Amino acid sequence: MEQLLIENGTVVTLGERNRILEGHDVLVQGDTVARIAPHGTFQAGPARRLDASGFLVLPGFINVHMHFYSTLVRGFARAVPAKSFSEVLAHLWWRLDRALSLEDVYISAKVALLEAVRHGTTTLIDHHASPGAVTGSLHAIARAVKEVGLRASLCYELSDRDGGEVAEAGLEENAAFLEWCRAAGDSRLAALFGLHASFTLSDETLQRAAQLAADLGAGFHVHVAEAPCDQEQCLAEHGCRVVERLHRHGVLGPRSVAAHCVHIDARERELLAASNTAVAHCPQSNANNAVGIADVLALARAGVLVGLGTDAVTVDMREELRAALWLRHLAAQDPSAGFVETCSLLLDGNRLIAERCWPGLHLGQLVEGGAADLILLDYHPPTPFDATTFLGHLLFGLAGARVDTTIVGGRVVMAQGQLAAELDAAAVAAEARERARQLWERL
Ligand SMILES: [Zn+2]
Repeated sequence: MEQLLIENGTVVTLGERNRILEGHDVLVQGDTVARIAPHGTFQAGPARRLDASGFLVLPGFINVHMHFYSTLVRGFARAVPAKSFSEVLAHLWWRLDRALSLEDVYISAKVALLEAVRHGTTTLIDHHASPGAVTGSLHAIARAVKEVGLRASLCYELSDRDGGEVAEAGLEENAAFLEWCRAAGDSRLAALFGLHASFTLSDETLQRAAQLAADLGAGFHVHVAEAPCDQEQCLAEHGCRVVERLHRHGVLGPRSVAAHCVHIDARERELLAASNTAVAHCPQSNANNAVGIADVLALARAGVLVGLGTDAVTVDMREELRAALWLRHLAAQDPSAGFVETCSLLLDGNRLIAERCWPGLHLGQLVEGGAADLILLDYHPPTPFDATTFLGHLLFGLAGARVDTTIVGGRVVMAQGQLAAELDAAAVAAEARERARQLWERL
């Protein structure tokens, strides 16, 4: 089995008990971390060596709510300004997603994945929509994931908003990809059953999705109470609140991820906790769409597992973490509110959510026997650097540090700031620009 020795770095293990190990080597065997030991332990070690002296060696970051498909809308200015969340969807996202082709879907994912490599994000839980090209869309994304070499959990966001045929195709796309994923056994890929949101799903469609997902043993990935309109529609049409409705349809559970949860009440938090459903907090997106700030401290107090997602605003998890904390302080009008808890969303919440999607890989931590998903960060601590000071460094120093190297499953995807030879980011961007130009004409 091929070996790689990452030598003499400062290893930050993260995980349940974060250890900071100066002058340590990480021996990678195949796709796994075989050993972490003081530098010099592996005298007659492998021929492939990577000098990590002067670098921090950390596990790759995880993003628990992403939309690869949003890439080609960057800079698009021909949308009527939105005055509410419903208008953000109607004026921009639902126009975009309807116009996407399978090739647009592929190139969108590829651009986003290459950016993720550069920012040290190695695992992403994506939520995809392309109502004009549903069938095969998850395979188009999977192709990009495999080419770039990261890990992604994929789903298609089922919705009734584009009519019965598209909903039918959405049901089939989710089920087919879940089945394919199980048969393929590729640890780069995982799958959930995607649902757009309560307010665009009929009872009948939800019921069918729940049945299919139950048959396949799959969890769901769904937007929950992102804006007040989701709750208002649910109360008016279904006589209950959103989390209650999803609970009745069997959508909640330990394999499911509920994104946003900005406008939920105490009873809904209890339901999320009791069902062991994970929540993806997306602070920058919520701020950008002016929908509010999810009360993640109340969720955590209720016993809900909460992680951090970007909702495609960025792929940089350190940036998202900082925004999460500033917004927490602002919401509480307290400059010390939720410091540890907010960092825990990224470092603990995302690790635990990833473990549900990829059991046994121990993503989000460096541990012997776990996946060799790690990054080298160019950071020289100017103040004492140990487990007690790490969070301060993470927020105020590491956040701006350059990612030098990204390794996923033992494969070096980027080294010394250079992407692997087969990953031509300029060519990918050029193709994306051409596709974006054509797409914008269609919009
Ligand atoms: Zn989203």
